[in-house]
Parts: sequence; structure tokens; C-alpha cells
Amino acid sequence: MSPSAARQLPEATLTADELRRIDAYWRACNYLSAGMIYLRDNPAGPNDELWYHASGCRSWLRVTRHTQTHEILAAAFAGMAVR
Ligand SMILES: [Zn+2]
Repeated sequence: MSPSAARQLPEATLTADELRRIDAYWRACNYLSAGMIYLRDNPAGPNDELWYHASGCRSWLRVTRHTQTHEILAAAFAGMAVR
């Protein structure tokens, strides 16, 4: 098989109903994503947050941060956090 033959894709064959369903799924995902961002509580004061240290040790941390001053009041590895 030549390299160019391996790159050929089948012709797109979505039905109108499949396209409608994909669009509905996409719209539902967007709605839920926006809801997770904009419909959450926005408390003033100390707030427990879950942080991921992606650029470092790749650990999940439970951080208590003051939402107005951004002061970090407590931090612990998420798996070891005790309340
Ligand atoms: Zn870390």
C-alpha cells in the first residue's frame, strides 16, 4: 500500500438525523460546561479548592484559599487531607 493510499479517508456519510443528534450532544456539552463555570457558588472568604500541580509533582492538593485576599490558609495532599 502506498503512503498516499493509506491517508485516504472514507467519504463522510452522516445522515440528517445523525447530524442533528451530534449537534444536540454538542449543545448539551457546551451548556453543562458553561454551567460548571458560571453557576457555581462564589463564596467570599476561606474556600476549599482542589488544585492539580501539573507543572511540578503532578499531585492533587486540597488548598484552603481566601477568595478575596488570595491568601493560602492551608494546603495538603488531597489523598491525605483530613477534615
Ligand atoms: Zn507539587
